[in-house]
Amino acid sequence: MSYPFALPSLGYDHDALEPHIDARTMEIHHGKHHAGYTSNLNAALEGHTDLHSKSVKDLLAGLNDLPEVIRGAIRNNGGGYVNHDLFWDIMTPGGAGAPSGTLAEVIKETFGSLETFKAKLQSTAAGQFGSGWGWLCVDGNGRLSCFSTANQDSPYMQGLTPILGVDVWEHAYYLNYQNRRPDYLAAWWDVVNWDVVASRYSEAGQG
Ligand code: MN
Repeated sequence: MSYPFALPSLGYDHDALEPHIDARTMEIHHGKHHAGYTSNLNAALEGHTDLHSKSVKDLLAGLNDLPEVIRGAIRNNGGGYVNHDLFWDIMTPGGAGAPSGTLAEVIKETFGSLETFKAKLQSTAAGQFGSGWGWLCVDGNGRLSCFSTANQDSPYMQGLTPILGVDVWEHAYYLNYQNRRPDYLAAWWDVVNWDVVASRYSEAGQG
């Protein structure tokens, strides 16, 4: 079943992010884990046709308005769906330099410098107990925040828009890095596409 949501394509080959993220991890992560969240999200929405016109973002932002029987499934699988959609989108082979424009300025204003922000995200994500994500998010006034969430909880649940996120579930790094989550996080910056992060920042401001 692929309705109403389909697994987004990666936009690059499984081995495109090597050596920072290995091909086998990408293959399983996208083809099994993300595919699983997608099919489970669709399964949860089966029989709830009134919800099929909503975006996953809207489903997560309005979680408490959903029927209780599917709330947990939408939280976990809708979160897993959008979190991974963002994750693939903000990575690119070889990365893309550093943030520019307004985003670069706001990062500096908020965190002091890009390096300070990167250190904060790394320590926040490394310190997330168990499975979860590290985030850079923007609120309705263009203000940035950096924090982690557990499991597949999405910042949309708090009314915030994620513009950068790093997956710290073991499935994201264990084949290559085993228990060395900090090493994975340090290497991850080399594949971050700051151009896309900046676009997401601009789009969030317009929305
Ligand atoms: Mn994942």
